[in-house]
Amino acid sequence: MSLLEVDAIDTFYGDFQALYGISMAVDEGQVVAVIGANGAGKSTLMKSIVGLLHPARGRILLDGRPVEGMRPSKLVAQGIALVPEGRRLFPSLSVGENLMVAGQLGRPGPWTIERVFDLFPVLRERQHQQSTSLSGGQQQMVAIGRALMSNPRLLLCDELSLGLAPIVVREIFGRLPEIVAQGTSIVIVEQDVMQAMAAASMLYCLQEGRTVLSGPPKSLTADTVRAAYFGV
Ligand code: ATP
Repeated sequence: MSLLEVDAIDTFYGDFQALYGISMAVDEGQVVAVIGANGAGKSTLMKSIVGLLHPARGRILLDGRPVEGMRPSKLVAQGIALVPEGRRLFPSLSVGENLMVAGQLGRPGPWTIERVFDLFPVLRERQHQQSTSLSGGQQQMVAIGRALMSNPRLLLCDELSLGLAPIVVREIFGRLPEIVAQGTSIVIVEQDVMQAMAAASMLYCLQEGRTVLSGPPKSLTADTVRAAYFGV
């Protein structure tokens, strides 16, 4: 049984249908990537999984149990955490406080503030600074750390690479295996296709709300992925 199973969901914004029969599976210990151009529906899929949007049709199963329609706070307690696009840190709080607020929401598990500091040592040095004084990459590390503090079984990362220099993106992606080693599966939503393909063992490509390609990155050629991504 997969840890997460998304089964043929349709999600709407009012009358506008943003997702058409999207299905996806995430196994324990797996990194799955979702790629697609602007407006393909990647964020809508993430928001549907974390309960910020409710699919009109289809099912979302965690450990075989339906979770669609649950409130986001309940889903955090069930082990699903989101690193939102744009990080959304609490600007008036310090790095340490940003991390600590999330620790109260989740489940018991391996992640503590010290573990997060071991994962991203620069955050230990900056823990008393206001989060807004950090670089973009460091803020992204806080956003990841904050999600980890709820001890998720599934970590959803929306556009980790957005606005960051390639070297910082590599540094952050380089930490993902350690997160998986602690027992957390990961879904990454990315516009950086190469980074996504390198990090994941399963890839889904969305286009205008539909899955146009899926498979292990190793089985896909760059041309096939490019054609699916751009819709040519
Ligand atoms: P991006 O990379 O730009 O974030 P995306 O693949 O995440 O793109 P979504 O944000 O999921 O795409 O958007 C999918 C579709 O839903 C788009 O056509 C978009 O215009 C539409 N959409 C997104 N948010 C809303 C909203 N709040 N109200 C109405 N339509 C929306």
